[in-house]
Amino acid sequence: MVKTEREYREDICQIGRLVFQKGWVAANDGNITIRLDTERILATPTGVSKGMMQCDDLIVVDMKGNKISGRAERTSEIAMHLTVYEMRPDIKAVVHAHPPVATGFATAGKPLNLALLPEVVIGLGCVPLADYGLPGTPALTEPMLPLIPKYDALLMANHGAVCYGEDVFKAYFRMETMEHFARIQLVAELLGGPNVLPRQEVDKLLDSRTRYGVKARSSGEPGCPAAAEDVGRGEAGRGEDKFYVTRAELIALVDEALKARGMA
Ligand SMILES: [Zn+2]
Repeated sequence: MVKTEREYREDICQIGRLVFQKGWVAANDGNITIRLDTERILATPTGVSKGMMQCDDLIVVDMKGNKISGRAERTSEIAMHLTVYEMRPDIKAVVHAHPPVATGFATAGKPLNLALLPEVVIGLGCVPLADYGLPGTPALTEPMLPLIPKYDALLMANHGAVCYGEDVFKAYFRMETMEHFARIQLVAELLGGPNVLPRQEVDKLLDSRTRYGVKARSSGEPGCPAAAEDVGRGEAGRGEDKFYVTRAELIALVDEALKARGMA
């Protein structure tokens, strides 16, 4: 059922409040858009808190980003949204925010690409990291171009994340799954590092996507998600675990080995 523009405006304001309440944005960060039809995009404007928007604050732009209607100014990040719509005809909504744990991974230069949780392997596959680009310039979207056709959720280095979907709720839920996953991985890292699922289990989860009716883009991308064998972590990678010794311990180990061979 196609919604009215008024209903889409209400959807964006509702998602804006959720994004704000979750703490995924500070001040006027983030932006949310919906594809109204082949010509028009409904968008949050610049300079407004996503938690305090009114339906009439939203603006409508054309597919080149020119404002068609609305009082407020457009966001400088609109070009990123338009690129997603252009490259992915299946996408009807885009959510961009700075969720702190996922953005922490993006700032540390780490993608969320490990096979750790069944729901994430099935739903997202993994979340790759796009290189940094100056916001408000084409440099922001350039590193994302090879990733957009293959994934539905992206980390943006030293910036934030963008998720998209067949409607604005699906886009929002992808970001919620991504941020929840980032929190869990962070806790696992603090507890000594996660056990990554072995390839055999990852393949079973990827196969089960059809059973759950999931059409994740990342299916079949090599290394997405990375299994235990790929990273040498977890039960299957145990033999390759790293260990650390002090200089004195290392000298003692070498001495011992030489003595055992009658060489010292
Ligand atoms: Zn941003």
